[in-house]
Amino acid sequence: MHLYSWLSSGTENSLKTKKMPPHTDIDAELAMKHDFVEQDDEKPTKASPREYKLILRNCIYLFYLHVAGLYGIYLLLVEAKWSTVLITSFFHLITLLGVTAGAHRYFSHKSYKATMPLQIILMLFHSFAYQKSLIGWVRNHRLHHKYSDTDADPHNASRGFFYSHIGWLMVEPHPEVLKKRKLLYMDDLYNNPVVMFQHRNASWLLHLLAFIIPTVTTWMWGESLWNSWFINTYRVMITSNLSFAGNSVNHLWGCKPYDKTMTAAQNIYFLFLTLGEGFHNFHHVFPWDYRSGEIGGDKVNIITQFIDICGKLGLAYDMKTASEDMVKSRMLRTGDGSDLWGYTDKQKIKNN
Ligand SMILES: [Zn+2]
Ligand SMILES: [Zn+2]
Repeated sequence: MHLYSWLSSGTENSLKTKKMPPHTDIDAELAMKHDFVEQDDEKPTKASPREYKLILRNCIYLFYLHVAGLYGIYLLLVEAKWSTVLITSFFHLITLLGVTAGAHRYFSHKSYKATMPLQIILMLFHSFAYQKSLIGWVRNHRLHHKYSDTDADPHNASRGFFYSHIGWLMVEPHPEVLKKRKLLYMDDLYNNPVVMFQHRNASWLLHLLAFIIPTVTTWMWGESLWNSWFINTYRVMITSNLSFAGNSVNHLWGCKPYDKTMTAAQNIYFLFLTLGEGFHNFHHVFPWDYRSGEIGGDKVNIITQFIDICGKLGLAYDMKTASEDMVKSRMLRTGDGSDLWGYTDKQKIKNN
């Protein structure tokens, strides 16, 4: 059995769902609404009593990942060569870019457009993360946005920290998740040759990029094979946990300047750790904004700067952003009163 199989559940592989109306210019704001989803009036429950059926292979993988990853931290601090530290940092960075600029902001939300070369780069970077193929990643993420904090949200934060962080990967998905994902619009990905190449070849491609290439690279720079393996496993563990924390920490702790009714919150610590993905309350209100954060936070949003550089190189274009007025008015209408960037003060000054 491939290690990759931990990432897919029994019903995961029914690739094509029902054909949805075609569209050319994919607008992520609309994609999050009913326009691209079949008629679906049934509201999912918030956190109804449920049975948890363990997926043993996932539990074993996650246990190994964390034990081996923690040992990798020890080796990194005590034995690793400087070349290993630098190479591992490099792979860490491109993994974060693949998940955030790639799987999240481009493939899930289409918050900007990417040329074919950039799509290929982002797909390859994402493969270093060992977090499902883009098909699986995006499907879970679109469900998460559409049905946040309910039983149809794969990592429903209403079930607490452990479930939303890692527990959801250890058990069979909730029946509501299985039901709703059949209705989800995914044709933009099924029709994308880059995405489908990764999906069809995930069983070897993800192992090659997530484990073999980084391990062999540090080994070729003089590190022992033993150290190379465990230190790379640490990288996979850390980047996995950063993604997990986007679903747990970002939905449990922080202020809610734009919509106080949702669990998604602004978390400055997470912002630094992920180089720009901590403005989660903003992101859930404006998922189609390519910055995944508001105006005042660009300086600490390295991922946004990366997309901007891609824009200057002609690889990315049509970046979508929420206007300052739109952000302010939403803040005044549904926010919790917190104001990280002093927008309401500016508004008062303007009104006076
Ligand atoms: Zn979220
Ligand atoms: Zn998102």
